[in-house]
Amino acid sequence: MTVTREKKFAVIGDPVEQSLSPLLHGSVFRMQNIPGRYEKILVTAQELPRFMARFRNGELDGINVTIPHKFAVMPFLDELNPKASIIGSVNCILQKEGRLTGYNTDWFGFIQTLKMNHIQPAGKVFILLGAGGSAYSVAYALLQSAAGAVFVVNRTREKAESLVASLSHLSGCTVFQPAQLEDLTSYLNDSVVIVNTTPLGMGTLKDETPFPPHLLRPGHTFVDIIYNPLQTKILKLAEETGAQTINGLEMFIYQGLASLDVWLGRTVSSRIPMKRIKTILEAKL
Ligand code: NAP
Repeated sequence: MTVTREKKFAVIGDPVEQSLSPLLHGSVFRMQNIPGRYEKILVTAQELPRFMARFRNGELDGINVTIPHKFAVMPFLDELNPKASIIGSVNCILQKEGRLTGYNTDWFGFIQTLKMNHIQPAGKVFILLGAGGSAYSVAYALLQSAAGAVFVVNRTREKAESLVASLSHLSGCTVFQPAQLEDLTSYLNDSVVIVNTTPLGMGTLKDETPFPPHLLRPGHTFVDIIYNPLQTKILKLAEETGAQTINGLEMFIYQGLASLDVWLGRTVSSRIPMKRIKTILEAKL
């Protein structure tokens, strides 16, 4: 008889309390009879080197990485999957015999979200709010999908410039630029898709909005990649304006299932009933 060892996984971040990854993965393990355990671990920036050493030594088989470590984990890796290397940020790491390989599954989660909500990115104008780890994944997904334009708006302009500089070789026919909202008024009166990748609307920032509400229009589509809460303040205001609104839950589920495929080395994701998983997670939000 073959005894399969229980595999151990975790999500690391700071903050991490809001994460539903343990619930998502725990539910999948039960549905598929996978011997696995998944926890959330608060890891501060100072604690990251020591945590990565313990991870490498076999404490865990795989981790998800969330805010603010998606760039910071990269120097600790032995290898980067080609897509993660192009995107330049990592949200999933596999530990095998002491070797750490970094992956990016956020971009896939984002593409799936657009698909599920019948948004065809080709030719469309996107305003991307934020230039952190997840913004790189979203920008990559949009450039791969031949978006018409992607304007990156960020608190720290230099980081928007760095994002554009690092992915501009993929831009093809897409207009891809750092921008300020003041320069985008002509686009904002049209049917743009605005994507929030900042934490404004979550945790201690739950009463903040990443976009001035008076600029919202009924023709806009507002995607907030935050999923906890399901309806951030800006999504509520966008909905009241008559805009189409999309939260981050589907992205979260798809990036998580794609991580599981990486860790287990087989396709589990396609066998998971999406509707059931969504219901389980929504009940907690
Ligand atoms: P990150 O790498 O730390 O980047 C955060 C970004 O938000 C940076 O551009 C930062 O601007 C900006 N920002 C932070 N605080 C701000 C403030 N007070 N005012 C204005 N801008 C601010 O974080 P991340 O990993 O990209 O994650 C960002 C968010 O996305 C988190 O809420 C996370 O939960 C969510 N997320 C969701 C999913 C999903 O599956 N649904 C996947 C990934 C991430 P500066 O450059 O100026 O610092």
